[in-house]
Amino acid sequence: MLIEKSAIEIAKEIKERKLSALEVCETFYNHCKEENQKTNALIRLDERALEKAKLIDEGKVTSGELLGVPIVVKDNFCIKGRETSACSKILEGFVSPYTAHCIERLEKQGAIVIAQSNMDEFAMGSSNETSAYGPCKNPIDLTRVPGGSSGGSAAAVAQKMAPISVGSDTGGSIRQPASFCGVTGIKPTYGAVSRYGMIAFASSLDQAGPLARNVNDAALALKIMIGKDVRDSTNIDFDFKSHKETKNKKYKVGIIKEFFESDLQPEIKNGLDNMLKMFKDKGWEVVEVEIPHTRFAIPVYYLIAASEASSNLSRYDGIRYGLRDINIDDGRSVNELKEFYKLTRSRGLGNEVKRRILLGTFALSAGYYDEFYIKACRVRRLIFDDFQKAFQKCDHIVGPVTTHTAFKINEKNDDPIKMYNNDILTVPASLSGLPCMSLPMGKDDLGLPFGAQIISPQFEDSKMIEFASQVEQLFVEGGQI
Ligand code: GLN
Repeated sequence: MLIEKSAIEIAKEIKERKLSALEVCETFYNHCKEENQKTNALIRLDERALEKAKLIDEGKVTSGELLGVPIVVKDNFCIKGRETSACSKILEGFVSPYTAHCIERLEKQGAIVIAQSNMDEFAMGSSNETSAYGPCKNPIDLTRVPGGSSGGSAAAVAQKMAPISVGSDTGGSIRQPASFCGVTGIKPTYGAVSRYGMIAFASSLDQAGPLARNVNDAALALKIMIGKDVRDSTNIDFDFKSHKETKNKKYKVGIIKEFFESDLQPEIKNGLDNMLKMFKDKGWEVVEVEIPHTRFAIPVYYLIAASEASSNLSRYDGIRYGLRDINIDDGRSVNELKEFYKLTRSRGLGNEVKRRILLGTFALSAGYYDEFYIKACRVRRLIFDDFQKAFQKCDHIVGPVTTHTAFKINEKNDDPIKMYNNDILTVPASLSGLPCMSLPMGKDDLGLPFGAQIISPQFEDSKMIEFASQVEQLFVEGGQI
């Protein structure tokens, strides 16, 4: 069946004219419409996709590594001429004047954006429940969350709405939903993918990355997304070598003591034990490493992310973008500028976003700046140093992505701390700017998927992918996935 095919197969068959690009596009487009009724993974379909596909069939566009491949893009990436809202009411009606750098790069290789996906408002969340468009549901169990914040992107791939989707990961937002939905998701080294055109949440942490049903498709998308862009000053000129198989490398794999000692769901623990056994059977060495400062990762992350968010989100004042609210409920209109900001921001932003703005503004305020923000930055450095030390002992680190599989909708909604603790295993790599990914590893007794997390040294994204594709093969051979 067409929707089962990988991105690589689709592009190849379109290039060889064995498949019509329009037929591919129509098939996925219709599938999106139908499947979306179940999960609400997509918030906007892009009807222009069909016209773009026609150009390929007419021979007007002939090359590209993703020729005619439909992709789904998280709603925090600008797409020229389309509404982009980061699933926030405050950006209602905002139409992007340009396309995000990494999306443009995918389009240049022939990829066609067919839809924009649901997400937590401004990418703040772990369950996709803070979206102004309503929650997205987990396609494997509709009573559960798909994870977040890239919940829609992960669900879309799991539902075969497109072979590839794009997400963003600040503290785990690609890896955690990938794990909850049983797909592969990569967060590259910080700085590898330009953030130009990606709506900012926490600038020192935000990275874009792909989600797909297998490592090869995700790797191809990532290779295309990485590219030097002068419009993002943190973007590095990064030579991402396309991933090659190194069949006989005897890997030294690190396991983080603190991660394995966390309160893991038994099936996840078993999955990890099986994986380590497979590694040993293959002659790979497994060594224990320590990231002792990981216990501070959650408070450090939430201080830094909230501080940066409070600054980034100050631009939503009702003047420059989206929603503008000037009418008080009794019909009077405001004439004070401050009142006007207050009204627009009170109505346009959701509770979680407001909570972070308050926390961040407080942490950055005079008198508290050194005590909170600077201190958090110092501890962040210690976590980074822990990883540097760990990588002297191993090539890659493996472990769980989350301590449990997908939870129920509304289960953690009323307790932000419970929700924040979800990210306990994903934020350490984010704070350290390291490449990391989630790879489907198994299913629990209820059939809910969970992933293995791989964390690699900075700039070794292609080596991480090489390693991941071997691990993926072990899982397939072992009948684990
Ligand atoms: N769940 C984390 C948060 O709420 C991570 C979000 C993300 O990576 N965008 O901040």
